This record gives sequence, C-alpha cells and structure tokens, in this order.
Amino acid sequence: MKPEVQTILELQEFDLKIDWIQKRKVEIPQEIQEIKREIEDLLNQRVTLREALKKKELEAAKLETDLEVAEETLRKFRIQLNEVKTNEEYRKALEQIHHQEQRIQEIEERAYQALEEVERLKHELPQKEREIDEAIEHLKFRVKELEEEFQQLGDEYLQYASQREARRKRIPERILMKYQKLRELRGGRVIVPVMGQVCGGCQAELPPQQILDLKTSGDLGVCEICGRFLYVPEEVLHS
Ligand SMILES: [Zn+2]
Repeated sequence: MKPEVQTILELQEFDLKIDWIQKRKVEIPQEIQEIKREIEDLLNQRVTLREALKKKELEAAKLETDLEVAEETLRKFRIQLNEVKTNEEYRKALEQIHHQEQRIQEIEERAYQALEEVERLKHELPQKEREIDEAIEHLKFRVKELEEEFQQLGDEYLQYASQREARRKRIPERILMKYQKLRELRGGRVIVPVMGQVCGGCQAELPPQQILDLKTSGDLGVCEICGRFLYVPEEVLHS
C-alpha cells in the first residue's frame, strides 16, 4: 500500500472520530435534558404519594367526625321518640330512627375503608419512596457521567483535530478535495476496502481487472457505482 493511501485512511479515521464527537455533542445535552425531566417526574411522584396519604387521612378524620355527629342525632331521635303523642308521630319518629341507623352504618363502612386505605398507604410509602429515591440517584449519576463525557469530548476534539491537520498536509490537494466532496455527499466511510470481489461501500461487484490493478499498484481506485475510493487492504496485498 502506498504511504499516501495509508495517510488518507488515517485521515478518515480521525474524521470519523470527529464526526462521532460532534454527534455526541448534540446528543448529550438532549440526553441530560431528558433525564432531568425523568427526575422531575419522579420527584412529583414522591409528592403525589405523600399527598394521597394526607388526603386519605383527612377523609378518614372527617368520616370519624361525621359518625360522631350522626350518632348524636340518633340519640336525639331516640329521646324524641319518648315524647311523641300520636301513633302517626310515633311511626314517623321510628322511621327517622331507622333511617339514621342506616346512615350511621354507611358512614361506619366508609370510615373503616378509609382507615384501611390509610394503613395500606402508610405501609407502602417507605418502600415506594425508597424505590423512587434509588431511581433518582441512579439518574443523577448518569447525568454526572454524561457531563464528564461532554467535558472529555472537548479535549478529544482538539487532539483529533490536530492529528487530522497533520494528515491533511501530507495528502495531495486533488485527492483531498475529492475526499471532502465524497464525505459531504455520502457521510461515513468514503474510502472503503475491496472485499473479495466487491466494493466495501456499496457491495457492487468490481471488474477483476480493476482489482488486479489495485493489488499491483497499492494505490487508490474509485468504485464506478458509488464513487467511493477503493483500496486493497495491506493483509490482502501481502497474501
Ligand atoms: Zn461502491
């Protein structure tokens, strides 16, 4: 393989690394935003859990009060029963008592359910909060990792950019320009190996004579189908 082919392959590797860095520089802040939204959601979930318990406790307390009032009313109705004068009044008073007893039963039932719910929520709360806190810790750690990665990208970029410059200087202008155009057009790898009988970029079959020429010269060729630069890998040249 000619030294300039080796150089342009190295250039490509640095360009690909820099492409990746630039992609990550866009992705990482988006990923961090996304994770911060998840953390926000989890914090809200935590608050909602506490609020649900508080709400149930208030409901249970109110039902207790309702029950006391209803029982007091029932006592009054029972006293009034002794003071009625007529059968009709007696019948009505009994009906009132019966109705009140039913009401009390209903409130008792609801109060019992509310208390059970309070107990259940109280019991579940620590475990659920612990799970949420662990999830938040995990996400915060991920944010830290991403922030560190973002920091490092800056250093790596400088390092690769200077390596890239050094390679560029050693490549003939004509080839460099074609290489740049291909990169803009195709992205990714634009210098691809001959793989068996086919182009490593588009998989099109290559003329046997072209492969033979590339093997003999160790130079760059061009795929007639996709326009990418072709080369025969070093290990194939010497096999
Ligand atoms: Zn091709």
